[in-house]
Amino acid sequence: MSRQILIDMIKLRAAMVENSALELPEAIFYPSVNMNGLKTIRELATFRFTCRKCEDAPCISVCPAEALEKDEDGVITRYTNLCVSCKSCVTICPFGTMMTDFFKHHRNRDLFYDLKDEKDMERFVKVCPEGTVSLTDDDKLPDKNIYRLNEKVLVKDYLYSTEKQ
Ligand code: SF4
Ligand code: SF4
Repeated sequence: MSRQILIDMIKLRAAMVENSALELPEAIFYPSVNMNGLKTIRELATFRFTCRKCEDAPCISVCPAEALEKDEDGVITRYTNLCVSCKSCVTICPFGTMMTDFFKHHRNRDLFYDLKDEKDMERFVKVCPEGTVSLTDDDKLPDKNIYRLNEKVLVKDYLYSTEKQ
């Protein structure tokens, strides 16, 4: 298995709370010429692992742009081309799932790191707040709250669901 990154979402959230002006570097898989509205690994991980997957999801009902929906596994997905960054979903979510900076249009291309590129992956680890992202050869370790997001990314977070990941 090739090297992967481990993103500690618990520490990342703490870093964001400590410094609300913190502009986090972002890991992505598909860089595009137009970076506006790009979906990041952090957003994917949040909807997959942190979101409580509410049955009548208020975030979906409140969205004025019909930009949110659930996939077949009940995981929320956001259509960035429809989202107007109003943050109504952030306000109504009873669990504080989303970080508000998901919804700003990232204009600084230097903040994006493509995880398909080994060198970019190393650079990403170096620029993230200390202790929040590391390189690893390990697989998922549910006993240590470490789960797999995809072939390149492991995420450490407290799971609401008791389902096996
Ligand atoms: S920020 Fe507004 S438009 Fe975007 S997903 Fe949330 S509620 Fe919908
Ligand atoms: S309201 Fe919050 S916890 Fe519930 S489905 Fe939406 S994002 Fe997830």
